[in-house]
Amino acid sequence: MEARVQSYIDAGLPKAKAESTAKNDKLASALDEIILNASITDASKNPKQGNLLLHLATTASTTPQEQLSKDDLTMLAKLVNVGSIQSLDQLNGGISHLKAGGDRSKEAVEKASGVGIIVTAEQVATHVKDYMTQSASTLAETTWANLSSAMASLKLVEDLKWASPLEIKKSLEAAFTESFGTKEEYNKANAAASKAAKAAGAAKPKAGANGAADKKGAGGDAQASTSTANAPVSNMFEEGFLAALHPVGGNPQIHDYLRQEHLKATGGLVHTRFPPEPNGYLHIGHSKAIAVNFGYAQYHKGHCYLRYDDTNPEAEEQVYIDSILDIVRWLGYEPWKITYSSDHFQKLYELAVELIKRDKAYMCHCTAEEIHENRGGADHGPRKACAHRTRPIAESLEAFEKMKQGGYKEGESAILRMKQDLNDGNPQMWDLIAYRTVKKSHHRTGNDWCIYPTYDFTHCLCDSFENITHSLCTTEFIQSRVSYEWLCDALEVYKPRQSEYGRLRLQGTFLSKRKILKLVELGLVKGWDDPRLYTLIALRRRGIPPGAILSFVNGLGVTTATTTITTARFEQAVRSYLELNTPRLMFVLKPLKLTLENVPEDYVENIEKPLHTKNASMGSNKIPLTKHLYIDASDFRTVDSKDFFRLAPGKTVGLLYASYPVTCTSFKTDEQTGEVTEVIARYEGFSTNPEEAKPAPKVKTYIQWVAQHAPSNSPVQVSETRIFKQLFKSDDPAALKDYVSDVDPDSLQVVKGAMIEVGIWDIIDSVKKSEKKEAQEQKELTSDPSEALSGGAGGGNARVRFQGLRTAYFCVDSDAKLKALQEEGHKGPSDGDELVLNWTVSLKEDKTK
Ligand code: ATP
Ligand code: MG
Repeated sequence: MEARVQSYIDAGLPKAKAESTAKNDKLASALDEIILNASITDASKNPKQGNLLLHLATTASTTPQEQLSKDDLTMLAKLVNVGSIQSLDQLNGGISHLKAGGDRSKEAVEKASGVGIIVTAEQVATHVKDYMTQSASTLAETTWANLSSAMASLKLVEDLKWASPLEIKKSLEAAFTESFGTKEEYNKANAAASKAAKAAGAAKPKAGANGAADKKGAGGDAQASTSTANAPVSNMFEEGFLAALHPVGGNPQIHDYLRQEHLKATGGLVHTRFPPEPNGYLHIGHSKAIAVNFGYAQYHKGHCYLRYDDTNPEAEEQVYIDSILDIVRWLGYEPWKITYSSDHFQKLYELAVELIKRDKAYMCHCTAEEIHENRGGADHGPRKACAHRTRPIAESLEAFEKMKQGGYKEGESAILRMKQDLNDGNPQMWDLIAYRTVKKSHHRTGNDWCIYPTYDFTHCLCDSFENITHSLCTTEFIQSRVSYEWLCDALEVYKPRQSEYGRLRLQGTFLSKRKILKLVELGLVKGWDDPRLYTLIALRRRGIPPGAILSFVNGLGVTTATTTITTARFEQAVRSYLELNTPRLMFVLKPLKLTLENVPEDYVENIEKPLHTKNASMGSNKIPLTKHLYIDASDFRTVDSKDFFRLAPGKTVGLLYASYPVTCTSFKTDEQTGEVTEVIARYEGFSTNPEEAKPAPKVKTYIQWVAQHAPSNSPVQVSETRIFKQLFKSDDPAALKDYVSDVDPDSLQVVKGAMIEVGIWDIIDSVKKSEKKEAQEQKELTSDPSEALSGGAGGGNARVRFQGLRTAYFCVDSDAKLKALQEEGHKGPSDGDELVLNWTVSLKEDKTK
């Protein structure tokens, strides 16, 4: 250990980091190997060596060797050691190059890592100056609020790829201070302005549906609607990215009258939108977008649209449309209005015609290859305008009309392109496609159209039509902001301000629709809501409350950086959310008979137990104790050992909530299999005559149990308990080409015959009551009752969730058939009931993973 730590210190790691790394076996052995193979002895040539090598080791320990071999690691480590690779960006450049299967020669790797490219402070300053001039009009409006997106834009400049981010930031801050005064002054002024704006907002009429959603609390889900759900979901709006957004109307416009109209239309209230394409089920990443958009509007007492971005008739389906709304509501939000991009097809078409008339769009007949070549081709050569770019306006109008009439075949070279700026360094300005022919029926407009607008043409204009004040999207759209603004200005319409935040990425699973579909098709998962997946319908079915998801997202905060979180950390968040507000029941996964030899056949003890030991407000319920009990098979061993604290012959353990502990006196086994079939025990201290009863002996360990008692319908039989583990064998399946064989066949275990205490019926009853109440509230919320889906905020069976004491959190699966759940006025068990449970999350982190 000592030697290890010393070798890390020699390699350049600070002492504390060296020590903590040495404690992490997996990481330490990766680092040892790197240090050994690259013969690293000191850090004299590279002051950042220690941290860079550690980053390399971290990457190595999470990347399969096919992608990053030992030789690759050695090469990179050597480049670090000689001081060629100096920064994290450089190292990542090399790593990505190798991971993507790039050329393994030293020259190629050096090139990919930008070795030898030195960007001086002066060069950075020149680019910053250029940027300040080019973006002067935008910057003048938003000033310091724009800093992070200015950073991001500058990082995209090819020449600055290898510049130090710190240098860029320093230079930008200097330029900002020179132009707009200091950041402190700005913060002060901003705080005062937002206070004033809030005061003005509060005087306006109530914010409609959002206000009500506010009241209801995240999820409207029975157990989530208590304290935990609402409280934390506010600070992500008070700090970081979302706190720094411009005030309503603060975004620049090409004409001042556009701002005036916008302020009038919005009444000065925040207007956001959540714009999913209805081509799949939402996943956990979307919950961040939902929390950001609906949450930001709610926080500022404004409005949030649910807008289906349905411009691609090939992939979109009604099931997705329904599911998306259902999930948004499940998360506790009610859209202010539900719209579709297709609502605007006519208007979009008219604006396309207008754009041609303004000589800012043209019909182009180049093939895809020609367009690619004209844009510089694979070698990023010079860009060329095609012959169609300068054709007469009338000709383009005529060809566009022909296209609208179906005069071109799908895939035939006829598209409408925007006439932007081929000299711009940003590819989003290279005459993007605005319209193409698609001869498919659209789920809403049928066969009305055979031409459909692209995302680039549609998104900014729909935002404009809906007077969106903050168009919030993820950072892969940073480059698109330029074309977004170009189009609004070209048509002289209100120009919303797009601001980009980092995506949420989950490591340990993948969210890609294409890949999930493949698993569904191969039968490796049971559909899109298989609880091992991270679609939101899967998480819901797995019993994760909406409030847990929102508080998880909120806890991560919102910045411009991609947030990568392991599934283990997500589960940790769920666990701590469930901890305080989930009722606890006695549950026996693999029942083993326990007979109390000194208790009479007809003896019944009625035990009142709390539903939660640390949360008295959850109340209590009653369970019987009789001569015939069941305990979990894993709580008994025929041969005792030092490290085993539960029941064994001659040993005494407590029964949770019972008056006395039990001592095992004997056991019976199956003659053929040798398996234990029954344990006999003494109920210590018990006597039928209360006068003779002795005080119960003290014990250290308590186990759970359920009793056989027909009059109370105890125990409740569980047909199936489905236990889920990580779906994938590796830690980062998203990085694998062959993700299919990474699926762990043991990730689902089905256990039949578990037993649960009768308290489950009380929980079912209380869930049913709150569902009914919410369904009523939902009806009142939606102006159009046909839009109200049954079951209020939804969640169904999975809302019945509990902690199986000493076992795990569980919920009732949608496959369960329980009259008590499905029928009004029905309580308790019925013939034909089939109880199916899902394992939601374990009680502790599984350290063996
Ligand atoms: P995917 O391809 O993963 O389904 P998408 O971006 O195509 O994602 P959309 O339905 O178009 O999905 O997304 C709707 C909104 O949700 C967009 O604003 C998008 O930026 C946002 N979003 C999608 N995935 C994430 C994520 N992982 N983190 C944060 N926001 C996301
Ligand atoms: Mg999409």
